[in-house]
Amino acid sequence: MISVDQALEKVLEHIAVLEAEESPILSCLGQVLAEDVFSTINIPPLDNSAMDGYAVRSADTRGASRKSPCTLRVIDTVAAGAVSQSEVGSGTAIRIMTGAPIPEGADGVVRFEDTDELERQGIPTEIGVLIEVEPGDEIRRAGEDIAAGSLVLSQGTALRASEIGVLASLGCRKVKVIRRPVVAILSTGDEIVDITQPLPDGKIYNSNSYSLAALVQHYGAVPKVLGIASDNEDSLIDKLSPGRDADMVITSGGVSMGDYDVVREVLAKEGRTVFWRVREKPGKPLVFGMIKGQGKVKDIPFFGLAGNPVSSMVNFELFARPAILKMRGRRNLTKPTVRAMVEDAIENTDGRRVFTRVFVEKRGDGYFARLTGPQGSGILTSMALANGLAIVPEDKSGVKPGDVVDVMMLDWSEEVE
Ligand code: AMP
Ligand code: MG
Repeated sequence: MISVDQALEKVLEHIAVLEAEESPILSCLGQVLAEDVFSTINIPPLDNSAMDGYAVRSADTRGASRKSPCTLRVIDTVAAGAVSQSEVGSGTAIRIMTGAPIPEGADGVVRFEDTDELERQGIPTEIGVLIEVEPGDEIRRAGEDIAAGSLVLSQGTALRASEIGVLASLGCRKVKVIRRPVVAILSTGDEIVDITQPLPDGKIYNSNSYSLAALVQHYGAVPKVLGIASDNEDSLIDKLSPGRDADMVITSGGVSMGDYDVVREVLAKEGRTVFWRVREKPGKPLVFGMIKGQGKVKDIPFFGLAGNPVSSMVNFELFARPAILKMRGRRNLTKPTVRAMVEDAIENTDGRRVFTRVFVEKRGDGYFARLTGPQGSGILTSMALANGLAIVPEDKSGVKPGDVVDVMMLDWSEEVE
């Protein structure tokens, strides 16, 4: 049986970065830029005022103070979005609002607070300046944020809200990004019923399709939910068929040693197996391979996840998540890890890498992790209460309260509360 690290290496060997497509910027959150973006314009486009105040000639204000203000004649008012047609000549000023272009002749702006404007009625025809203005005061220079012709965002950048804002500031409506993978999701099991149906005796609701589709979305891919296959090869092949044009196929269940666990046979017939079973808990029966695509579609990475609801989610986080991120052109494929002191004992009975559902809290300088309840791999509520997976290495028979372990963070607390 291979280790978690070997399994991940094999998975990633079979994953290629997808091709680029042009997309409206607001659809690109989290996507990776597939081109360098240069600016054709200066931002800001013109020298403009950083404050509401008066545009002046700094030389006119030499020696000005609160005790002996210099008085200037107000010849115009200019709002943001407008351009004053007047020029600031000696002894004059133009009232100016934040963002408005600096008028001809002016070389500085004095804030309202540093004038006697408040003491005057209405819009003044004269203004007293209470401080000396230096050239350049309160002026935002043309191109000080972005200069025309410069490289603004480089290929390979993952786009966050701030990059999307920068693209908008350049007037960019669409950009080339690595496209989102489509991930086909199929649940297997004669006992599984969709939530749109009544629940007969002996059956359980299909939770895996939903938790997996949510994870697929969470990691920026597009789920294609195929429904539920019965525990026989014909049903599985039939239900898989609409997924044979996807970028990845994920099934859950049917990969153990049971009489009706047919997923591996189907993968062997319809493609090839790369590995089966990983030295991990939960999720040991994971199978990974490549399934033949439909028509011109190449072989598709295929994950047969363990059926237990927690196992399938842990399998996904460990293997399908990094595969999706690699397809999307992302370079950081690892979840953040913290070192945390465990408050409960965790056993490791058979030399697998154990991933235990915990809730991590920061207290003082340190992180503390407590188990979120019974760790059976069917107990999905203990996953819902967790924000991380505490890791007990293969070569440790367990940890006791007070020991420090690595915890792979699934979500930070604000997302779990
Ligand atoms: P299997 O690997 O098919 O033997 O499934 C392991 C356990 O997970 C069984 O108890 C199944 O009933 C349960 N299970 C499998 N698939 C699902 C699913 N889609 N939703 C909820 N539970 C499931
Ligand atoms: Mg089953």
